[in-house]
Amino acid sequence: MHVLVLGAGQLARMMSLAGAPLNIEISAYDVGSENIVHPLTQTVLGQGLENAIENADVITAEFEHIPHDILDICQQSGKFLPSTEAIKAGGDRRIEKALLDNAAVRNAKYYVIKTREDFSTAIERVGIPMVLKSALGGYDGKGQWRLKDLNQADAIWAEMAECIAATETQAIVAEEFVPFNREVSLVGARGKDGSVAVYPLAENVHTNGVLTLSTAIADNELQQQAKTMFTAVANSLDYVGVLALEFFDLNGELLVNEIAPRVHNSGHWTQQGAETCQFENHLRAVCGLPLGSTKLIRSTSMINILGEDTLPPEVLTMAGCHVHWYGKEKRAGRKMGHINVCGDYNGELQRKLCALADVLSKEAFPAVHQFAENFSE
Ligand code: ATP
Ligand code: MG
Repeated sequence: MHVLVLGAGQLARMMSLAGAPLNIEISAYDVGSENIVHPLTQTVLGQGLENAIENADVITAEFEHIPHDILDICQQSGKFLPSTEAIKAGGDRRIEKALLDNAAVRNAKYYVIKTREDFSTAIERVGIPMVLKSALGGYDGKGQWRLKDLNQADAIWAEMAECIAATETQAIVAEEFVPFNREVSLVGARGKDGSVAVYPLAENVHTNGVLTLSTAIADNELQQQAKTMFTAVANSLDYVGVLALEFFDLNGELLVNEIAPRVHNSGHWTQQGAETCQFENHLRAVCGLPLGSTKLIRSTSMINILGEDTLPPEVLTMAGCHVHWYGKEKRAGRKMGHINVCGDYNGELQRKLCALADVLSKEAFPAVHQFAENFSE
């Protein structure tokens, strides 16, 4: 089987690693350079997109911000999974919100803003405090504003107006601020036959809008809620592949924050913590193979490595600790790799996280240090 992935970052790389044992080969389309590249070496494979589409058995995507003309060409080939409709929903918060409403899945109250007048209406209907997010192009907390007080409105509007003017189809989605207790996400797969397999929920810590720590959790009640919402969204899109739902946990009631029509950073723990990892299950789904078991095999956390290209040797020495580098050039704040750390039971995992806090710097790994501080209290 040959799978062409739109996007040539770490997600395509990890799909390639997971696909090899199943004889699934990956090539990746680098949207920036418009080259077809090898997902591990980034070597240019010297064929244009059209050729690559022709040669692929299946086409999929590792991210949602893909030019629509490229999506349309892939859709026309009849090989693209999940549907381009799902990718477009993930890349446009207006479509995403409408999708959630249509599937009757709980999400934060919102209003779409194009003009200053719309902004005033949003303030009336959604209320303050409010989170404002660009409809297109936002990720890792970028393209967002917080309105906490009415007297900030003019200053925020000036920035939002600039953002709206920069792209013809741009808008701002105003969302009620959700005073959540924590953030969790559900990653799961839906097969061509409509079968659904979800992983255990992950509890996620974000630092400055970026995921820093993600831990698989066992909570039957929340898991059930999340799976019901996952199935509603996946079925409404006739989805095939891995899909992630990010939630706010508000006193035991889940609200969907956003969806990602792809393998997700909060599912990286499955490489060591689940029977079948999310990358393999995505490939199984889009290739029409049976889904693999999503069972938790041991307590696992994932720690993102941001802006660092070396780690102290103790990380590699620690039993149950696995390092995954992405082969990227170092840049401040960039996702360079992740560490999966496992224990046979929760207490052991917690002790290992504390041991990691002793060797990892507080500046680069604030969430691990925060965990260790809370744990010792
Ligand atoms: P991602 O990289 O996950 O795609 P993003 O930039 O698309 O992130 P969101 O996930 O929507 O943006 O928001 C980033 C973070 O901001 C959330 O994880 C959450 O911590 C906070 N946040 C977003 N929306 C709200 C809200 N309505 N109320 C409270 N906090 C929010
Ligand atoms: Mg998010």
